[in-house]
Amino acid sequence: MSGATHQLSSGRSRRGGRRRWWPLGGGLAIAAGALFVFSPLVSWAGQPPPGGLVGRAALASTSVPGPDEESTARVSTSVPGPGKENAARASHWINWTPGPESEPDRSGYDALHVDLTTEIEFATETIVGEAVWLLELREPLPADLCFDFSDAMTVTGAWIADLPARFFQAENRLHVTLGEAPIAGERMTVRLTYGGSPERGFLLGFEFRELAGVPVAYTNCEPVGARTWWPCKDRPDEKFTADLRFIVPDTLVAASNGLLEAVTPLPDGRRCYHWVERYPIPPYLISVVATDFACFADEYATLDGRRMPLTYYAFPAHLANAQRQWAVTPEAITFLARTFGEYPFVEEKYGMAQFPWGGAMEHQTLTSMGSYFLDNPAPQDWIIVHELAHQWWGNWVTCGTWRDIWLNEGFAVYCEALWAEHRGGIDSLHAHMAYNRRPGFAGSVYDPDFIFNATVYRKGAWVLHMLRHVVGEKTFFSVLGDYGRRHAYATAVTEDLRTAFAAATGDSLHWFFDPWVYGEGRPLYGVWWDRLRQAEDGQTQVRVRIVQEPSGPQLFTMPLDARFLLSNGEIFETTLWDSLPEQEFLVTTPAPPESLIIDPEQWVLCRVHYGALPSAVAGSARAPTAFAPPAQLGAPYPNPAQSEIWIPLRWRHPVTETPGITSGNETAIELAIYDAGGRLVRRLAPRYAGPREDGFHWDGRATGGAPAPAGVYFGRLEGRGLAGETRPGTAHGVRLLLLN
Ligand SMILES: [Zn+2]
Repeated sequence: MSGATHQLSSGRSRRGGRRRWWPLGGGLAIAAGALFVFSPLVSWAGQPPPGGLVGRAALASTSVPGPDEESTARVSTSVPGPGKENAARASHWINWTPGPESEPDRSGYDALHVDLTTEIEFATETIVGEAVWLLELREPLPADLCFDFSDAMTVTGAWIADLPARFFQAENRLHVTLGEAPIAGERMTVRLTYGGSPERGFLLGFEFRELAGVPVAYTNCEPVGARTWWPCKDRPDEKFTADLRFIVPDTLVAASNGLLEAVTPLPDGRRCYHWVERYPIPPYLISVVATDFACFADEYATLDGRRMPLTYYAFPAHLANAQRQWAVTPEAITFLARTFGEYPFVEEKYGMAQFPWGGAMEHQTLTSMGSYFLDNPAPQDWIIVHELAHQWWGNWVTCGTWRDIWLNEGFAVYCEALWAEHRGGIDSLHAHMAYNRRPGFAGSVYDPDFIFNATVYRKGAWVLHMLRHVVGEKTFFSVLGDYGRRHAYATAVTEDLRTAFAAATGDSLHWFFDPWVYGEGRPLYGVWWDRLRQAEDGQTQVRVRIVQEPSGPQLFTMPLDARFLLSNGEIFETTLWDSLPEQEFLVTTPAPPESLIIDPEQWVLCRVHYGALPSAVAGSARAPTAFAPPAQLGAPYPNPAQSEIWIPLRWRHPVTETPGITSGNETAIELAIYDAGGRLVRRLAPRYAGPREDGFHWDGRATGGAPAPAGVYFGRLEGRGLAGETRPGTAHGVRLLLLN
């Protein structure tokens, strides 16, 4: 253990007022050079591949957990779990880590626009497609044009500028031979025709289902499923505009990204839905859901008073519930627009389309919403807000590589918490973030072990929550708005976020990002304090000792709020910058303190133990003075009781992690039960009952297990310090009446 340092800490008075988020001004930044107007180059001329199309066996109909399964998991306990087949199927993706698409793009071209036509053949569960790409060559020039495309699909033709081109498929890539003497900056159209039965991708890809005799086709392609049904450069940092056409039976509706340009009847009882996405979009956000939708609409009033359509697609049986649940959307868009800037796709639409899946997916301008959420009668604001938030964080600003996925998911989860704050105030924010604590967060937030794990979602949200407290309310929200506008309709990586905050604060923030984002684990703090000397006017010098035990490989540097409750009833707060394995701080308080709480408002993803840190105690020669955080016993119930009594324990101030709650050998607070004659009957450790309430469960038995006789008992809260010595807590006792 390294040596302690002494630091003098200057106090500050209690912060006035409650913290609030700060709405940002409007103003929509459009990326320079973005291609917003584009005419279709080639009309649709789909043709089946030679040799006919082979149908495939219907896939199991149970849902697979997906991109938002972390979020879904909160409410999905009643959902039928993935079956054995799904578990087996899932096993190949649970270990998925980013591949070549997270390396620099060496394709030698930029994709500018795609004209994508997909003929959906429900009877054979196949598709016939045509993709017409507008590309621009760049240095270094490519040997050929290479697209990600599943080998399960058959390419039937390739043309460059309307001239037939040679092509071949290998290792899930399509290579198209370039003509003579290509030059950098040259633009070309590449037409590709293909067909087949899409194989299942990383999560899904293109799926056929039948519900109550009605066919459903849908896609879900994050992160690398687009290549299973159309040829593209399947990486999140490739964004382009798109004309999307889907041909379906005329009894069905095909919902997709952007604006509906036309619905064209075809002579064979089918029709073509033509959607136009004029905002840049990466492959994984292009989607379609086609079935016999019931459609309804709403409207969003923009910050400057314009109107934008909200377009919804629900299964007919779920229409009423969808209308009820999705009614919250305009308020949610307004809230996020005021927080981060106007809804990014305001010239088009926002909408939701139901699909038969266990999660939800934030497809650009049209979220796919799993049926689970519509089967559930309870309000589903959180998932609506989560997917909506992705329209800013994920779709407006897309993670530059899948290693940066937390820039999508951590942000969306934190927006759920911001919504809770919007609806219920600062306590709701903290309650929501308390929910996002997990006992262990495996791996790092950046380049995670698995891109859809709790570390990405929940610890990612905690990173933002902590950053907000570190840089301050106003800076936090204004920097996020600036960061969004700087990377609007493009991509960002983790370093872009750090440098945005670094520029605004004049602090590199490496000390924050290195352990919290690139590193692993979180700190456990052991805290001791004692009064060194007291002046006649009451000013008291206090020594605070903090021992840090990180659960990961590195130490954390963090400003920790320290709140002293003083003997005169006032509160004194200061900040202790903790960065060492063992560190001492000298604090002068205006009156003698009675108790100390570290991180009282729970802004840090840490655990705090007062008095004893199990592994640190043995080697410590210093006799620590432990005081349990002040707590109060609530009214026992039932009281009188036959045998079982619950005695609530309420912390006078929220504490990050209460001592003694998580494991017995760290106990610092107990309820001692005495009989009317003052004899000790039993000691009880608290049980966790929620973020703000713990309690003691007494089964009416004495130490040793014998039933205590009927009578009056007294419970007294006691703090247990080191070496097992007990000291009375600051809370009063309670009277228990046992009727055995
Ligand atoms: Zn998400």
